[in-house]
This record gives sequence, structure tokens and C-alpha cells, in this order.
Amino acid sequence: MRQKRFFLEENEIPRQWYNILADMPVKPMPMLNPKTREPMTVEDLSELFCEECSRQELNQTDRWIDIPEEVLERYAYYRSTPLVRAYSLEEALGTPAKIYFKNESVSPIGSHKLNSALAQAYYCKQEGVTNVTTETGAGQWGAALSYASKVFGLESAVYQVKISYEQKPYRRSIMQVFGALVTPSPSMSTRAGKDILTRTPNHQGSLGTAISEAVELARMTPGCKYTLGSVMNHVTLHQTIIGLEAEKQMEKAGDYPDIVIGCFGGGSNFGGISFPFLRHNFTGERNTRFIAAEPAACPKLSKGKFEYDFGDEAGYTPLLPMFTLGHDFQPSNIHAGGLRYHGAGVVVSQLLKDGWIEAMDVEQIESFEAGCLFAKCEGIIPAPESCHAIAAAVREAKKCKESGEEKVILFNLSGHGLIDMAAYDQFLAGNMVNH
Ligand SMILES: *Cc1c(COP(=O)(O)O)cnc(C)c1O
Repeated sequence: MRQKRFFLEENEIPRQWYNILADMPVKPMPMLNPKTREPMTVEDLSELFCEECSRQELNQTDRWIDIPEEVLERYAYYRSTPLVRAYSLEEALGTPAKIYFKNESVSPIGSHKLNSALAQAYYCKQEGVTNVTTETGAGQWGAALSYASKVFGLESAVYQVKISYEQKPYRRSIMQVFGALVTPSPSMSTRAGKDILTRTPNHQGSLGTAISEAVELARMTPGCKYTLGSVMNHVTLHQTIIGLEAEKQMEKAGDYPDIVIGCFGGGSNFGGISFPFLRHNFTGERNTRFIAAEPAACPKLSKGKFEYDFGDEAGYTPLLPMFTLGHDFQPSNIHAGGLRYHGAGVVVSQLLKDGWIEAMDVEQIESFEAGCLFAKCEGIIPAPESCHAIAAAVREAKKCKESGEEKVILFNLSGHGLIDMAAYDQFLAGNMVNH
């Protein structure tokens, strides 16, 4: 038996997201309004985000939040996503560990990002919003939002980090197919962009610069809201569909994970797969380990400081209490564009501080070695971001080989890498470097 896949019946698909804030033993510190330094209110947040997302962002009381029917209908285009037992990878590693992965790459745009894009676009439409803006790095979030905007009849404008816009032209094409207006950031189309280009004419762009520009456009345009693909609590809330499905699928497989792994950009896919399992650690029923796999080139969890910082370069976003490398940190140009972000979500940061989760750094070359091994065994070429989770899973599986322990390892395959083949080319040619 080389591979076994577990799905859910239609009536088993979760109809609610899990809000971990309701269960956290220590709640995170509040986000602050950068002008007043007072805790952000729903009103403050809804100047930027749609109202429902703003409410969800600050909701610390409702453990379960209903998924709207219209969003469930669109989830049904690709959900449930498969939970896969990776027998072939286990065999290649010679490990007694059981390795499972949750395959979010089967979404129409190839990553988990659509789980939140559909929800955010739906709420915007409900509230009478006509336009949405956002930033994107590698283009995964931009692609998801462009598609979700089309689904719910919104116009979308996407600022894409300049280096990715140039290195990954096909993601731009995907966004454009779905009708988005795509601009490389920093650009001269906003005040923030102009300021950055005046200071640093050759600026290659970062998620921070792109966020500044998208936020500014949203502020300046009537009927326009800003959306974010990671970091914020409401985004991770939407991603809990991953872990909630996985929990039921693991039950069908007759196992429960000892270790849950996700790659880490701002924390949404890691939180999405982890939080539903973590709730059983809070009650003492389980003692699962949770590993956030981050790139060694952008190690905010393991080397960052826990402090209040901005989510963007120009300082437009609320101040967030988080592990951060500083909002002016410029990560090197690793191929995992989705992991090149200076900070970590507020909830994940608090959980790390309190010892509920761990961080692991992975060098770029090790991540691609693991990604290629996985591709050969399981027939799926993983996104460069997801390669970090695979590398962490491989490390843990090798430890099991040494100790002889039969642990159950579950990782999230956040996306496929079919539009990232230039990165694989570089790896195969031996031209890849660690940073
Ligand atoms: C965006 C992205 C990530 C990182 O974002 P998180 O919010 O940390 O999940 C990881 N993998 C893929 C494929 C992505 O597109």
C-alpha cells in the first residue's frame, strides 16, 4: 500500500470555524491604535477591514463561529481536502514513524489561502463593499483574493512585492485572468510607495512595503476595504477548517498526531492545522507537539523579539504584540516568498511565549532537498513554503528512526509548487544558496 487518502462525506464537513481565543489560558495583549496607543476597537479596525472580520478579530468569547452557507458552497468546490498517509515517504526514510499530510494544494488556486479569501470576499460583498485591495508576496494570496473577488462580484487591486512580480510572472498572470489590477510594490501610485522609492530607489519590495500601499489605497478609496492573507486572528480562524477536517480524517485513519507541523509565514496555515488539535492540550487530554517551521533567513519565532511592532513598513497598521524581526527588516530573497514576513501573528506569538508550541529553523537547501524527496515519493511538487514543513517532518521522522519510536507525524502541505519551477531549476542546477 503506497498511499492512502482519507476524505469526509458531505455531512461530515465542519460547518463552524474554531476560535482559539475563547480557550487560550493566557489571552494575548491587545493590539494598539498607533496614534492613541489605546487598544483597537471593532470600530477602529473596520476603517480598514470589513466589519465582520473586525468583529472576529477581537472575539475572545465564541469558541465556534458559523461558516456562512455561501462560503460552505464554495468550499465544496475543493473540500474536504485529502488527508494522506505518506507510506512511500516513510519507506524512503526507513522510519517507524507514521507520516500524514493534509493536502491543501488541491484548492483551485493551489494553496490554503483560498479558505480565508472566500470568507473575506463574502463578508465584504454582504456589507456593500465594491472594491478590495491587498498585498501579495509570491502571489498566492493575491491569486486567492482575485479569484474570491470574482466569485462574489468585487473588484480587486493587488500590490505584489516587486521581486516576486519579476521572478514569478505566472502568478501575476493568474491574478490578471481573474480580473485583478496588479501593481509591483514599491510603486509611485501611493504616498508610501513614493517615500520608500525616494529613500531607496532600488528597493526590491517586501510584504511590508506592499501592505503599506494596499492600506493607503483602501483608506483613500470609497467603498474599498483592505484584506490580509495571514497574521491577523480572523485569517487564522478561517484556516481552522484545515485542522478541523484533519481531526475527523485522522479519526477515520485510526490515529492521533503526536506532532503537528506547519510552515510559518505569518501563522495562518500553521494555526489552521494546529489550533483544533491544540485545544485538546489546553484541557490536558492530549500532549501533542506543535512545530512551526520557519526559514532560517527570516527567523522571527526563534530569533525575533517579543514586542509591539507594526505589521507593515510604513507604520500604517495597528501595533501588534508579536515576535518580530522589526518592521524594517528586509529578508533575503529566498524562494519561499510567503515566508518572507518580519512578524508572527499575535495568537501564535502568545502561544510560543507560553510554551504551547515550538519553532524550528530550516535552511533553504535542506527545504528543497526535502521537497524533492517528497515529490518523488508522493507525486506532488510542493510549494517552496511547504518544503519547510516537509523538512521539519523529515527531521522528526529521522529522529524516530534513531530512537525506534513509532510517532504519528502530521504536516500541512500548504500548496503545490507548479508555478515555482524556476526555484526548483536553480536547486537542480546546484545554484541555490543558504542565507
Ligand atoms: C502564504 C503561504 C504560506 C505562509 O503563510 P502562513 O500565513 O504562515 O500560512 C505558506 N505556504 C503557502 C503555499 C503560502 O501560499
